[in-house]
Order: sequence, then structure tokens, then C-alpha cells
Amino acid sequence: MVYDLIIIGGGIVGISTAWQLKKAYPRKRILLLEKETGFSRHQTGHNSGVVHAGVYYAPGSLKAQFCREGNRETVAFCRRHGIACERCGKLLVATDTKEEARMQALFERCRQNEIKARLLGRREMKRMEPHIEGTGAIFVADSAIVDYGEVSVAMAEQFLALGGEVRLQHEVCALRETDKSMELEVGRAKERLQAGFVIVCAGLMADRLACMQGLDIDFSIIPYRGEYYKLAPRREDIVSHLIYPIPDPELPFLGIHLTRMIDGSITVGPNAVQGWKREGYGRLNFDLQDTLEMLAFPGFWKATANHLAAGLKEMKNSLWKRGYLEEARKYCPRLQLADLLPYPAGIRAQAVLRDGSLVHDFLFAESRRSLHVCNAPSPAATSALPIGRYISAKTREKIG
Ligand SMILES: Cc1cc2nc3c(=O)[nH]c(=O)nc-3n(C[C@H](O)[C@H](O)[C@H](O)COP(=O)(O)OP(=O)(O)OC[C@H]3O[C@@H](n4cnc5c(N)ncnc54)[C@H](O)[C@@H]3O)c2cc1C
Repeated sequence: MVYDLIIIGGGIVGISTAWQLKKAYPRKRILLLEKETGFSRHQTGHNSGVVHAGVYYAPGSLKAQFCREGNRETVAFCRRHGIACERCGKLLVATDTKEEARMQALFERCRQNEIKARLLGRREMKRMEPHIEGTGAIFVADSAIVDYGEVSVAMAEQFLALGGEVRLQHEVCALRETDKSMELEVGRAKERLQAGFVIVCAGLMADRLACMQGLDIDFSIIPYRGEYYKLAPRREDIVSHLIYPIPDPELPFLGIHLTRMIDGSITVGPNAVQGWKREGYGRLNFDLQDTLEMLAFPGFWKATANHLAAGLKEMKNSLWKRGYLEEARKYCPRLQLADLLPYPAGIRAQAVLRDGSLVHDFLFAESRRSLHVCNAPSPAATSALPIGRYISAKTREKIG
């Protein structure tokens, strides 16, 4: 079967890209391939559901630009398609003088990133959130909540309505570039497909697909689990905004937060601990191939050494629920052990370079007939609409 374009990966980035391409090239035959039985079964379906405003990201980075645009566009998309989405706002709470200094720096970053934000003193913060303790906070009104599974299904419906094709349970097992086309082998039956151009949005499998095609890459995907708890229903009115700590700028993740979910529940988390299976969500999941590949990659050891103290603390708190609780009790002391109920984990696909540095921004690899999204870290769910548009524009010359 011959297509003009094939997109691999039915998470929110792949779906948005497929839709934007179909809008840009209505006459082209475009196929979206996903290996699971449904869309968004990995990162997109296991996240916090926050439509970020873009507070944290380096000014001028793709992350900062996409997040700002994505916040506005995601909320508008949800309104147009009748998807529940609430601009509930977010507080970043400082609990001591060290965090207050960091809070000032973040506030300045909000200004640089053109994010509407307000500094709150303790009294005003307590008025907004009586159960939260701290010395002050940044209030960001534009942060919102949504179910990204629902958003991505609605985008897929738009793609299908324009004549796009989707095949679920079609895992790409081989990918080869020739002078004339891209050749793919798909599924157990090894069905052969051909395309003029291929875009790969494979999340936790991004490096494997790039290697499958023989691209020369210098990163590996390291899985970092994000473990959550859910608050007992009797605590669901404990906060009315999203409550985040002030993050340590040396660390790549945001710290355990209280997140109001769009279904009315509240999650606590996620932490960031080493995963031993890329797509294994249970605490004890282990995969020999994933682990051996990771241990053989020099960047894994360097990244682990660079963040050793933080990594050990995260691991301790993952195993010791009271330690996890204490992280949230720093700003919400009313929480008790009995309030934390089990909730499914998510797994972040973090691109790590050979020298051990974690890639913070989007990362792409290209060949004449392909574009691979190698790193699409948080807030890529927020940013999926502008990312899809960016990829569509980036590939215009090559697609012709
Ligand atoms: C714990 C956690 C919390 C997060 N919180 C937020 C948040 O609140 N807000 C936010 O904006 N972002 C958040 N993120 C980040 C966000 O979820 C991801 O950046 C985003 O979902 C990435 O989308 P994706 O399409 O690139 O990847 P994925 O959703 O992982 O999709 C990749 C798809 O590719 C498919 N695939 C892989 N290999 C193949 C193959 N060989 N053949 C066919 N298909 C294949 C997979 O099955 C998968 O469906 C969070 C992430 C995590 C893990």
C-alpha cells in the first residue's frame, strides 16, 4: 500500500501532527499508525491533565513558545468540541526564604515569557487556599485542567473527518529509507507499506525507531516513572486551585503537586523515579531488554551520578509512603497518610545525551524522507496543537 505521508505514534503529538498535515494537504493520502488497541495509551493517557501556562521554561525556547500558544489553543479547542476543560488557576507556593528567592526568579521568568502572574503575600494566599501553608505564592490564572485522552480522540476524529486513515494495533517493526520512498514493515504479518515521507512521534520508543531507520543519534530514552496517589473523596475540597511547590532549578521535574483533575478528584504527585520497563506501569515491572540497553548507555550512568542525591531521595519516598506524604505536607500540613489512595503511575520519555545531560527542549532528527520527534517532554500535551503545526510547516519543503 502506498501513502504520501505516514505518521507513527497515536499519542497526542502524533495525532495533532496527522490532523495538521491533513489540513495542510487535503489531497494527500495520510495514514496514522498506532501499535496499541486505542489512542493515547502511554504518556498522553497517564499524565496530570494540566494545561500549563508556561511559567518555567527558558525564554526563547520552543517549549516556552509552544506552551503559551498551546494553552490558549487547547482551551479554545475544548470549547469548540464540547470537552470539559476548566481554567482553575495555579499557585506556586514558597515555604521558606530559600524558596522565596527562587519564587522571585520564577516571577521574573513569567514576565519574560509574557505569562500573566501575580505575587501573593501569605494573607492573600490563605484567603484563596485556607489549607495551604507558606510564606507567599505566585498565582497563575491561565493554568487549566483537562483529560488529554479525550482531547486526542477529538483531534483524531477531526483527522478522520478530513479523510485521514488510522490503523490501530499496527506496530512498525522495520523502517527503511531508499532514494524513492520510505518502506515500513508493520504488525506480526509484516505487512509492507510505502510512503513518500514519514513522521515519527513514538514517545517512549523514539530512540528505537530512529535506530531502526539507521539514523545517527546520540541520545537514549530513559524512562522516569511518575508515581501518584489520589486523595480520599472526603479531601476533595481541600484545595480549589492547582498547588505546586517552587521547583529546584537544578532538577528537571516540578516536584510533587496537588492537581485537581477534571473528574473532580485530586491527585498528589508525580514523583520522578527510575523506571525499569519503558511501558510498564506497575511498581515492580521490569524488562530485561529495556534495562540492559539502559545500563549499556554511558549517558544513563552520568545522568544518574549528576542527580544522585535527588534520585535517592525520590526512590526512598517512592518506597516509604510517609516520606512521600511529607513532601506534600510542606505546603498542605492537613494531609494524613490515610488520605493517600492508590492511583496509576505515568512514565516520562526523557531523552538523555551521551554526556549525561537531560534534554529539556524539543529535539528532532531528520533525513531526506523522515522527521523524528526525539524528545517531547512535558508540557507537550499542552503544546500538541502548535507542535503539530510546527512539524507540518517544517516538513513542507520536503513533502512538496
Ligand atoms: C507523569 C506525567 C505527567 C505529565 N503531566 C503533564 C501535564 O500535566 N501537562 C502536559 O502538558 N504534559 C504532561 N506530561 C507530558 C505529556 O504527557 C507528554 O509530553 C505527551 O503526552 C507526549 O505525547 P507523545 O504523543 O509524544 O507520546 P505518547 O503519548 O507516549 O505517544 C507515543 C505513541 O507512539 C506509539 N508507538 C511507539 N512505538 C510505536 C511503533 N513502533 N509503532 C506504532 N506506534 C508506536 C505508542 O504506543 C504511543 O501511543 C506528563 C507526562 C507524564 C509521564
